[in-house]
Amino acid sequence: MNILIINSGSSSIKYQLIKMPSKKVICVGAIERIGSTDAISNYKTDANKVEKIYEIASHKAGLERITSLLLDAEIGVIDSTEDIDAIGHRVVHGGAYYTETTLIDEEVKSKIKKLSTLAPLHNPANLLGIVMAEEVFTTATQVVVFDTAYHGTVPVKAKKYALPNELYENDGIQAYGFHGTSHKYVSEIANEYLHKENTKLISIHLGNGCSITAIKDGKSMDHSMGFTPSNGLIMGTRSGDIDHSIIYYMVNTLGYSLDDVNELLNKKSGMLGLTGFNDLRDIEEEASNGNANCILALEMNAYRIRKYIGAYTATMNGLDAIIFTAGIGENSSLMRQLVCKDMDYFNFQLDDSKNDLRSKNVREVNTTDSKVKILVIPTNEELEIAKQVYELLH
Ligand code: ADP
Repeated sequence: MNILIINSGSSSIKYQLIKMPSKKVICVGAIERIGSTDAISNYKTDANKVEKIYEIASHKAGLERITSLLLDAEIGVIDSTEDIDAIGHRVVHGGAYYTETTLIDEEVKSKIKKLSTLAPLHNPANLLGIVMAEEVFTTATQVVVFDTAYHGTVPVKAKKYALPNELYENDGIQAYGFHGTSHKYVSEIANEYLHKENTKLISIHLGNGCSITAIKDGKSMDHSMGFTPSNGLIMGTRSGDIDHSIIYYMVNTLGYSLDDVNELLNKKSGMLGLTGFNDLRDIEEEASNGNANCILALEMNAYRIRKYIGAYTATMNGLDAIIFTAGIGENSSLMRQLVCKDMDYFNFQLDDSKNDLRSKNVREVNTTDSKVKILVIPTNEELEIAKQVYELLH
C-alpha cells in the first residue's frame, strides 16, 4: 500500500511516500517558502536527490510541483496519481471532536476549519493541504491524524482548567495537548526497548516547539502544552508558561495591543526573546564563547524541563524512563546534560561518554546503575502517521 504523508504548514509542504506494511520510504521531500519567488523544493529517493528554487505562489502550485516530481519520467516513483492508495494528513488541532485517526469527509473538514480559531497558525494550512490533495489524488483515501488525538486519554482532573464549569462544558476550554504523534511513536519504541508494556515514561520532545508528556501504560496522562501549543516548556520563539496577568499588564499599563502581545508571546519570546537567537546550535555556540544571556537561557530551559519531570514523576508515582526526542532532544548533548544534572533523587544518572556519542539509532545514555533509563529516540512522525493510516484501512 502506497501511503503519501502530507504535512502542510503555513509556508511549507513536507511529504513522504511510504510503502506499508514494509515501512519502506520511497521518497521524501519538502517545499519551503511557498508564496515567494525563491521557494525551495527538495526531493530525495534512494537513487536521486534534487534541490531546486522555483517561484511557487500557492499551496496548490506547491502540490502540483510535488506531483510532477512523483510522476517524473526519470526521477519519479509512480506512474499515475492512482498509484497512491491513501494520503495521511497531519492536522494539529482536532479539539474535543477527534481522539482517533479519522477518514476525511465534509464534516471532518468543516470541524478542522471551525477549530482554526484554536490553532490559527496550523489548521488553515493543514486544511488547504487536504483540499488540494483531494483535487490532485482523486482516487486516494484521505485520512487525518490529529496531533491532539493521542492526548484523548488525559484524565479530566489534568486537562480541565479551574475556570467556571460552563467554559469547559459549553466552550471546549481545556488542555488538548500536541505533538501527540511524536510522543506516541517514541513511547512505543521505548516500551519495545524496555520489553515492557506497563511503563511509566516521560517523553520530552524538544524541537522548534517543545513539549513533555507523562505516559503510563502507553497512554498520555498529562502534557505540558494546553489549550493551544503555547503553554509549558520554553521553546524557540514561544514563552511557554507565564502568569496570564502579564498579558493584562502589557495591554492596560504598557500600551500593547492584544495582537502585539499574541505576536510577542508566540514569535518573539522563548529562546529568541532571551538570546536574540532561535536556533539552539547558535545559542550553544554563543554560550561556549561566554555570552551570558545564552548561558542563562540554556539553564532556564533545562530548569523548566526538570520541574515538569518532577511533577510528572509525582503524578505517576514513579518513573521507568525519560525519552529525549526531536531536533534538540536527539542532537543536543548539552541540553540532555543540563536536564539530567543532579537528578539522583529521581534515580537517573547520565553517562557523559554515552551522551556525547552521536547516532541515529535508539540509544540508552544513562550509567549502568541508573535505575531510571535515559533514552534518546529519533522521532518519526511521518512513519507513525503511515502506521495509523494503514491500521485504519486494514
Ligand atoms: P520542528 O519542531 O520544526 O520539527 P526540529 O525537531 O527539527 O524542529 O528541531 C529544530 C531544533 O533542533 C532547532 O532549534 C535546532 O537548533 C535544533 N538542533 C538541530 N540539530 C542540533 C544540534 N546538533 N545541536 C543542537 N541543536 C540542534
